[in-house]
Amino acid sequence: STIKELYEASPGPFVSLEFFPPKTQSGKQNLTARMGRMTALNPLFLTVTWGAGGTTAQKTLDLAALAQRELNIPVCMHLTCTNTSKEVIDHALKEAHKADIRNILALRGDPPVGEDWEEGSNFSDFQHAVDLVRYIKSEYKDDFCIGVAAYPEGHCEGEADVIDHSAVRDLPFLKEKVEAGADFVITQLFYDVEKFLDFERLFRDEVSATLPLFPGLMPINSYQLFNRASKLSHASIPSSILDRFPSESRGDDNKVRAIGVDVISEIVDTIYTRTNGRIKGLHFYTLNLEKAVAQIVTNSQCLSKILEEDKDEDLVDGIEEIA
Ligand code: FAD
Repeated sequence: STIKELYEASPGPFVSLEFFPPKTQSGKQNLTARMGRMTALNPLFLTVTWGAGGTTAQKTLDLAALAQRELNIPVCMHLTCTNTSKEVIDHALKEAHKADIRNILALRGDPPVGEDWEEGSNFSDFQHAVDLVRYIKSEYKDDFCIGVAAYPEGHCEGEADVIDHSAVRDLPFLKEKVEAGADFVITQLFYDVEKFLDFERLFRDEVSATLPLFPGLMPINSYQLFNRASKLSHASIPSSILDRFPSESRGDDNKVRAIGVDVISEIVDTIYTRTNGRIKGLHFYTLNLEKAVAQIVTNSQCLSKILEEDKDEDLVDGIEEIA
């Protein structure tokens, strides 16, 4: 099924989960078992990341195909288009289609750290994500339901760009991706819920009143990772959140995770109550970890409805096992 169809059919709330392909065979086996356990969270869909320039192409295709085949939950495969030839894109789309994958997150991608786009790149078929959206639409018609990325705090090309990045500046380009045929939008991670709510209003006013918009949330698994991920994504951390991690707790991952579960559950519930049904699904950057997401689902008022409403004993047992 496509994410668009499932979204329209579901009253929400629900979660969706992002995974990345592990490097080793044993890593893949562990992850597959973990993904199986995480189906207890009843996710609407799973996504599998793609290494920019096609660096993980086969591993991404393998994991996405395996999840689609074994878990009975629709998979969305990420696909980046810059620094990539049409052949690589076509191969990925054809293989995905063969594996029954009907959802693609169409992305631009980033250059390898320390390198530039222009230098050393002979590929000019795709400059921006919108070029990939247009290409999929023109070559594959409605074979794929297409998602695109958005940035509640603005997209940023690097430190030098910090000053002029804002969600408002990106908006015409996001609108262009939607007009080119995107069916849903997933946001970059954020920790400042007010920034997301401002963005959501802007998105509803300027881009689409009804298109599925999934806020992207990264659970806090360690203080170091939390800081690193937010810096890399240019996501600001409000001081009211930072203050909740006393310096003596920062080295203790269990404590940090427990505080993080409260922080993210509050963000989830704030989004859910303040958007009056316009946001039905929460997307989790799982980092291939299960505990924190399961704990957030149990802890959040809105997401724990997944358990109450289903009254499904297996589901409840499954979640208790991983939380
Ligand atoms: P675009 O939409 O092309 O935007 C990139 C920049 O160009 C923006 O600043 C935009 O404002 C500007 N722009 C867009 N169109 C135009 C235009 N016509 N003229 C001028 N400027 C324009 N990366 C990976 O490598 N693999 C992944 O699996 C992956 N998954 C992701 C999942 C999500 C949900 C998100 C939010 C990001 C993900 N990324 C991934 C990172 C992504 O590749 C980078 O953030 C990248 O820098 C931008 O990608 P985009 O698709 O948003 O690009």
